[in-house]
Amino acid sequence: MADLGLQFALIGEEIRHAIDEVLASRQFVLGPQLEALEGEMARYCERRFAIGVASGTDALTIGLRAAGVATGDEVILPAFTFLATAGAVVAAGARPVFADSEPQTLNVDPGSVRSLITPRTRAIVAVHLFGGAADIEPLVELASQRGLVLIEDNAQSLGAALGGKKLGSFGAVAATSFYPSKNLGAYGDAGMLFTDSEGIAERALRLRNHGQTGRYISAEPGWNSRLDEIQAAVLRVKARYLDRWIAARRAHAARYDARLAGVKGLHPLSPRENSFHSYYLYTIRITSQGTDPAARGDRVAKHLAAHGIDTSVFYPLPLHLQPAYASLGGKPGQLPVAERAAQEVLSLPLYPEMTNEQIDRVADAVREALRA
Ligand SMILES: *Cc1c(COP(=O)(O)O)cnc(C)c1O
Repeated sequence: MADLGLQFALIGEEIRHAIDEVLASRQFVLGPQLEALEGEMARYCERRFAIGVASGTDALTIGLRAAGVATGDEVILPAFTFLATAGAVVAAGARPVFADSEPQTLNVDPGSVRSLITPRTRAIVAVHLFGGAADIEPLVELASQRGLVLIEDNAQSLGAALGGKKLGSFGAVAATSFYPSKNLGAYGDAGMLFTDSEGIAERALRLRNHGQTGRYISAEPGWNSRLDEIQAAVLRVKARYLDRWIAARRAHAARYDARLAGVKGLHPLSPRENSFHSYYLYTIRITSQGTDPAARGDRVAKHLAAHGIDTSVFYPLPLHLQPAYASLGGKPGQLPVAERAAQEVLSLPLYPEMTNEQIDRVADAVREALRA
């Protein structure tokens, strides 16, 4: 699905130099590399404040709490997303309420969100899935009308935009992940949250460091969740390449689009109009007239595997049907778009260093599998 070795061959020397500097400084936590990275990322994401934490999941958890989500609150989020979005809601003490997706982008459907609001709802988490924008503007409007906090899970879409405005700059808080496979990945775990609110920023800074307001004085229980200096130094090097890497991903995605156009039963996800997609993943839907679309996807995946081509299903089981959330009473048929998507999606290899020949080989194998 990706080849981080090729990337390292390009930037390895710069990375080693950056790590050596941290080793020489002997300052490993909450130092100058993190401070510089936070300033650079805040500018990149068009936000006033950026706060580095230990993972994308922690960025969501701490962001939710810093924005005022408290124990027992309900938080609405899409069922069709990575496990971490819901895990963070639970870690913040709140109760997840799962919404359906819209078919075009598989991002959360604002109409479904609206129908799930109760007097206990405190926040909405919108996920920008696969590098593409969610329908965020109606959610901004809805949150403001109903006095709710809007959080963007931007773990997959750093650098993407809608209407010329960066994703992650719409909600009260946005969270991103620097997990190694993400478009901007550390060499370990790391994450960051973004806000324009001084109050939220101050609280998040406290929460990532045991809730401390002064040395060994804690205003509220917090976490140990800091982005360490070695990862910050690595990320500062890699951030300089991010826009070039996104441009390469977009070119590859356009080539896939062209090579896969018109194949019966295959539908690439289409980006939202007026958006800039960052193609964390290139995802197709494989539809079938029969009752079991997942079996057809399986056959395509197996055919590609036989040709030495990796694929992956993001995500095979929507969150309302996960064993972890069985106690919330989710039932099959409840969120039809999310459930169908889980049966139909298949993500193809995509990384900046891919060659046109590789893209063509993957596309040809997909066509072949669907003809068979
Ligand atoms: C990767 C990811 C996260 C979690 O990030 P980690 O850094 O792995 O904790 C959260 N949400 C989504 C949508 C993700 O893809």
